[in-house]
Amino acid sequence: MPTPAEPKPANPTLTARIRKNFPSAERAFSLEVEFGAAPGFTILFGPSGSGKTTLLDCVAGLATPDAGRIAVGGRVLFDANASTNVSVAKRGVGYVLQDLALFPHLTVEQNTEYGLTHLPRALRKERATAMLQEFRIEHLRQQRPAEISGGERQRVALARALVTDPCVLLLDEPLAALDAATKSKILDDLRRWNQAHRIPILYVTHSREEVFALGERVLVLEQGRIIAQGTPHEVLRAPLQETVAQLAGFENIFDATVWLVHEDRGTITCRLPGDKAGTFVLLETPLIRAEAGSLLRVGIRAGDILLAIVKPEGLSARNIIAGKLVSLERRDMIIFARVNCGIEMEVHLTLAARDTLNLMPGKEVWLVIKTHSCHLMQH
Ligand code: ATP
Repeated sequence: MPTPAEPKPANPTLTARIRKNFPSAERAFSLEVEFGAAPGFTILFGPSGSGKTTLLDCVAGLATPDAGRIAVGGRVLFDANASTNVSVAKRGVGYVLQDLALFPHLTVEQNTEYGLTHLPRALRKERATAMLQEFRIEHLRQQRPAEISGGERQRVALARALVTDPCVLLLDEPLAALDAATKSKILDDLRRWNQAHRIPILYVTHSREEVFALGERVLVLEQGRIIAQGTPHEVLRAPLQETVAQLAGFENIFDATVWLVHEDRGTITCRLPGDKAGTFVLLETPLIRAEAGSLLRVGIRAGDILLAIVKPEGLSARNIIAGKLVSLERRDMIIFARVNCGIEMEVHLTLAARDTLNLMPGKEVWLVIKTHSCHLMQH
């Protein structure tokens, strides 16, 4: 049975230094992170297997770190040196997973009250009712999980985690299985809840949209290490690392050599090796501190490239590159075009653009890329 957590600290900033090894994993894995999470959303972003769930499990007490310290405000949840390891039930940590099973035999209300068994019945009911209202599922209180939708089930899971008044909330892709409209309504409710309660929320997602919708801060994990952190804008709009660029949706990433530095124009010309030996493509990118000959990577979002069927003139864009359409593929409402201009680039278009421009494989086209749509990264 759940027991009450200790009183909530006044300034519940989460600080964690965690080392956790899985020597027996298929490929030995070690998580080694140190971070602070102030009240509000901190997004954990990273490829599959980078250690996001392991990190949450360590904070929740479901996994025991080999070394480190985890504290919320002044309250220590785990300290390897002091042999402190507060039990899961006493940590005061709410945890919601993508497919957290609600108790199927309990009603929505009973599921929500589950963590409150230490309270008198009337108080339990009062708290659960307030939470069900907050997540707009009060009308479902007598239903069982099998009788409600996936979105409603996730609202119940959130209500059940939050009704205990946790000092930290952990959300592991809680909305991944939901459609966009349901997701955005639940995100609104979560944002509202966060503004009223201000506790650290660690939120794992693979969705760029969720990062920008919720994120005050982002931590990017790769192979058990934090490789980037900052605001969503700092981390995803101008990524320095290729992993972050891929996560941030840069469909086109190429090797590049700094060719000419135009201090006066605020740009540099980069040379990208072409698909055929001895060929290359020139690209004008923003000025960075780099010398001619330096090796870089350049990332361009497929949605940032314009496509024209006659050579455009009088444009401010510095890169107008001739190419040939290789393929067009429709996925949902987006056309994924591949264009060979010496290198192959992915370009995203609307259905209307495809039809108006009468695009088809083999057609001669021009790619138009603004200097500032070319993002330079470390090699
Ligand atoms: P995903 O986005 O796919 O959920 P993740 O970033 O959450 O991935 P984790 O689930 O934390 O990644 O896993 C990180 C690594 O640790 C993986 O290589 C995994 O195989 C390994 N691992 C996780 N739990 C255990 C365990 N109990 N025993 C052994 N290895 C484990």
